Amino acid sequence: MKKDDCIFCKIANGEIPTNTIYEDEDFRAILDMGPAAKGHALLLPKEHADNLFELPDEIAQKALVTAKKIGKKLVDKLGADGLNIVQNNGEIAGQTVMHFHIHIIPRYKSDGQKINWVPGSPSAEELATICKEINA
Ligand code: 5GP
Ligand code: ZN
Repeated sequence: MKKDDCIFCKIANGEIPTNTIYEDEDFRAILDMGPAAKGHALLLPKEHADNLFELPDEIAQKALVTAKKIGKKLVDKLGADGLNIVQNNGEIAGQTVMHFHIHIIPRYKSDGQKINWVPGSPSAEELATICKEINA
């Protein structure tokens, strides 16, 4: 289903023209308008889902394989030195557009970007407690 007020639904389905680097029956991949690095792309499903948890499993499976294919093309064509795949769910996790998307970000030795977090330093006991909490 498409959502009327969703910009990524409109872009994914060609209602708003944009720079398309890949398209098939389920997805469109476009260049991000605020790129972290040259060639930063977004993979958008054509059907609306707010986030990963709403995405049908079949589309979720296809999404990673498709992102891999696009990532390879970006690295080869643009001569990138590495690649980040980033996918945000929820405002606190950095999601600003509430239509599922995967960031495919070619990385260059000289790009000066950081896609990073500050590592914590939990004790072995703390990690074991968290593990128990998850597995309970
Ligand atoms: P998020 O923060 O939700 O994971 O990522 C949203 C991304 O979409 C941002 O990197 C932002 O630059 C990009 N973006 C938002 N609106 C548009 C748009 O209208 N066109 C394009 N090409 N990119 C967009
Ligand atoms: Zn949408």
